[in-house]
Amino acid sequence: MANHSFTAPSTGAIQLWSGTIIPTTRDAPTDAESPSHILLSRSGYVRKLGAGIYDYLPLATRVLRKISQIVRQEMDAAGSSELLLPALLPIELYAGTKRDLDYGDLLFKVTDRKQGIYALGPTHEEPITELAKAAITSYKQLPVSLYQIQTKFRDEARPRSGILRGREFIMKDAYSFHLDIDGPGGLNETYDKMFAAYTSIFNRCGLDFTAVEAEAGPIGGSASHEFMVNADSGEDTILKCPASNYAANVEKCEIGPRPAPSKGYFAGDPSGALDEVHTPNCPGIEEVAKLTKVKPQNMLKSVLFAVRSSPEDLAKSGQEYILAVVRGDHDVNEGKVRQAASVKSIELADPAKAAALGFAIGFISPRAAVGKKGVLLLVDRDAALGYDDAANKPRFWMTGADKKDYHAKHFNWQRDLGTDPLAATPHNPTTHPAGNLKATNNNLIVADVRNALAGDPSPRATGSTLITGRGIEVGHIFKLGTKYSDAMGMSILDDKQTKRSVIMGCYGIGVSRTMAASVEQNHDPDGIIWPTPIAPYHVIITTLSPSHMTVARDLATQLSTLGVDVLIDDRDERPGVKFKDADLIGIPIRLTIGDKALAEHAVEFKPRKSKDKPVNVPLTQVVARTIETLST
Ligand code: ATP
Ligand code: MG
Repeated sequence: MANHSFTAPSTGAIQLWSGTIIPTTRDAPTDAESPSHILLSRSGYVRKLGAGIYDYLPLATRVLRKISQIVRQEMDAAGSSELLLPALLPIELYAGTKRDLDYGDLLFKVTDRKQGIYALGPTHEEPITELAKAAITSYKQLPVSLYQIQTKFRDEARPRSGILRGREFIMKDAYSFHLDIDGPGGLNETYDKMFAAYTSIFNRCGLDFTAVEAEAGPIGGSASHEFMVNADSGEDTILKCPASNYAANVEKCEIGPRPAPSKGYFAGDPSGALDEVHTPNCPGIEEVAKLTKVKPQNMLKSVLFAVRSSPEDLAKSGQEYILAVVRGDHDVNEGKVRQAASVKSIELADPAKAAALGFAIGFISPRAAVGKKGVLLLVDRDAALGYDDAANKPRFWMTGADKKDYHAKHFNWQRDLGTDPLAATPHNPTTHPAGNLKATNNNLIVADVRNALAGDPSPRATGSTLITGRGIEVGHIFKLGTKYSDAMGMSILDDKQTKRSVIMGCYGIGVSRTMAASVEQNHDPDGIIWPTPIAPYHVIITTLSPSHMTVARDLATQLSTLGVDVLIDDRDERPGVKFKDADLIGIPIRLTIGDKALAEHAVEFKPRKSKDKPVNVPLTQVVARTIETLST
């Protein structure tokens, strides 16, 4: 279980509300939709300065400092040492890795007075490799792990949800260097240490999170995990197996063995004659379904990908395009497409180029791939059915009609594909657990190429099915391998004087995103509810008259000595306003000093989380009660 306990390393802060700026407002900015954006804006933590650019006001700065402190302690404990690299990076750094091109518009570029071009660092693999190349000259210096906490810049296409996806944000990024993958000092050892450090970090921040298997993405590498804060508002879909500890991002999630279709793939008589229907003004499957009254699960969705490969690779594989076909209610999984087709990189095909090849994007049927050289037809196993075992009758399919604004009903794989190379191959779940079947001519593959869904069989526990949840990615650890060291020429002589590419790992945490993710997870209609370890202050003392300030200061001093951070709301405002603001900014405990309670030598005590009315606690006991509550 998470350790949310309060620890008191040093004297706590005492701050008067009147002495700082906490500009709370009733209304959220008009563009604010997500709870964290609304609440962090309304409660005076952040303020928008431009698209995806935010001021961090004093309260936010304290939260960021506390998160950073936890990150530092755990990274240091994991043997990583802190440094600070520039954010302004000469574009020449990217000469070897070409990431200035891969990043595309995401990379902010600036020009100096001498027309030199610089990038604002979106992440720091290049500068750290450049530094390590110079500083690490002997294998005896390895392994090394370095980290920094720094502002990063990415010109996100859609900056949204305030600081959850900013164009300028704070990241902890770490990089490790190794001679080997396995064994003592190897990449895997450090990766496991980082996994443990991340687990401690998010536990200590008081967050409910899931570590999931993830795609390595454009940064490359062979293995990665994401740390997701569990929140219904999260952008990412995660799947979990309740019977094992398997959890994965939907981009990566495997599906366990499924029963084979009784008649094999593609087998089954036509459900009727092919019937073209006019479907104008239907930008998506939903609209087509509405117009034609055909359910999406009875449609085939065909997505054309262009293979991105070097001319040499292309000459070898001969594969230029992949037509991936899934059921209309399913989503194509790009990682699975790449894997099934054995290609490294793909992108959605350019509509003009596709049209020249005879593919009407948006209206493609599997037939369009037939007889086309260089086009692989990759069919998801749920889409490759000709017979409906459950209903015990031929499967009805509607596809695009290979021309704009037309669809075709009663598509039949055998009749309309003109060839059924797989029909004779009965599915064998033991030899092909994922259902991968390959036609002999290599132009047709049946495989699992769709996103996993709730209810799909678990890939790790027989009989168990996957469940879904939503998450916010706050951390990501990657095994990079030699991508950067090779591109930038970082090699080292080992003990046998053999030249070896240095093996790298990289490990990121969105520090500012973690603050917002905590709010997404911990709030109620009245405002933020901070987990104690990252709350800007632990206690807010609300005074109802200037005459209460002596008692307030005395209490604050006692608490501060014990390491408690105290905010005193000394403003000349109505009690209702002060209580509302206290709830809004989310400080874990409110102590209210009022005449009535004071007459009984008591103060009102109210934990932010509690729905109960405040209780009177004697002045002599309130410090102990506060510490006790903060510690649980
Ligand atoms: P995303 O998929 O959300 O765009 P990413 O996978 O591109 O993020 P990484 O390159 O893995 O991000 O960066 C490491 C961490 O930095 C992420 O796990 C995330 O917490 C944080 N991060 C990335 N982009 C942003 C952003 N635009 N605003 C705030 N935090 C971000
Ligand atoms: Mg990531």
